Amino acid sequence: MSNPVSATNSKLDSGALMRVTARPEVVMQRGDGSWLWDSEGRRYLDFVQGWAVNAFGHAPALIRDALDFQAGQLLTASPAFHNVPAAALCEKLANATGLDRVFLCSTGAEANEGAIKLARKWGRLHRDGAWEVISATNSFHGRTLATMAATGKPGWDDLFPPAMPGFRHVPYGELDAIAAAIGPETVAIMLEPIQGEGGVVVPPDGYFPALRRLTEEKGVLLILDEIQTGLGRTGRFLACMHEAVTPDVLTLGKGLGSGVPLAALIATDAVSCFRDGDQGGTHAGNPLMAAVGNAVVDAILQPEFLTQVNRVAAHLVLALEGLSRVHPIRFVRGRGLLLAVGLGSASAEKIVASCREAGLLLNAPRADLLRFMPALTVTCEEIDFMIEILGEVMGRESR
Ligand SMILES: *Cc1c(COP(=O)(O)O)cnc(C)c1O
Repeated sequence: MSNPVSATNSKLDSGALMRVTARPEVVMQRGDGSWLWDSEGRRYLDFVQGWAVNAFGHAPALIRDALDFQAGQLLTASPAFHNVPAAALCEKLANATGLDRVFLCSTGAEANEGAIKLARKWGRLHRDGAWEVISATNSFHGRTLATMAATGKPGWDDLFPPAMPGFRHVPYGELDAIAAAIGPETVAIMLEPIQGEGGVVVPPDGYFPALRRLTEEKGVLLILDEIQTGLGRTGRFLACMHEAVTPDVLTLGKGLGSGVPLAALIATDAVSCFRDGDQGGTHAGNPLMAAVGNAVVDAILQPEFLTQVNRVAAHLVLALEGLSRVHPIRFVRGRGLLLAVGLGSASAEKIVASCREAGLLLNAPRADLLRFMPALTVTCEEIDFMIEILGEVMGRESR
């Protein structure tokens, strides 16, 4: 298939792009499953997938069909009307998560912002005006002013002063630290089940069940940010299901749209205290995006789907452990298809760049860490091919 646009990065970027990040001299043009092609026709095996977004890889038929059908029916009639795909998706998400009420929006940050608003409102109504949210250091919750304040990333608190008040950070995975931080002003604990951007940090076994008991005892809300870990990424529909924990408030994003902007704020009936006008958005419950969400959730809830995710995930873990016997890898960690390897040195950026040149896309969330977040439909053959390229690159780097 020929494409009229065949430009290099320098040709593409006239300077009109507001610079917010460094990008390599590559223009991605087309994808299919685990594969991407750039404008020069070079092929890449993609283990980033839009940042753990594309659960079904690139250009999957189920999303193309959903978009095609819905685009011919209704794009939007405004969020002030009901629409069939949004209503169906909300019901599916309530059933699949064990929660009651769903608000659909476009981005993860927007869902988390809504979760913080809901918690503050609930605190005003039910906890003597409590408003403070405790989150973890090294966490990531988004890039709006409030979600940046919730995010425990070093240096982020004084980026755009004044910082949004009402947040306090404690070390991740330490129950005592949270217990000590909870005070009369505390309204909620907000955490990722596994810290994704922080480097695929898995908390100790039993941490979340104990935290659930603690929050119930103290009468504060548990908000789980499953934007990266949800929708089958860790081998269960939600990561909190590994330990049978149900939060009061849950946020989803990334895989929910699997390539289109779709996110959700989900809560129990008892916490859902928004009144008309408290929350909204032009694209809230957009039928076109909701149609995709329905296709995605239906596919992930197929009985065989997560079994297959766990099968390929086990293959990936074994392959990475094999690699660690011949290369300087300190550990393999994560769950399902959200995995990372710790390197012996701060060489992750260099390895990512060399892999890209060799036709493999990986991510380095930290200077000494590589993250793997392939399509949930990745095959064992693709995993083996990834390991082959990575092993070759690591062998070259260490010489
Ligand atoms: C990606 C991510 C977000 C932010 O989602 P956006 O869609 O980029 O706003 C929030 N929390 C977690 C855990 C994420 O991984």
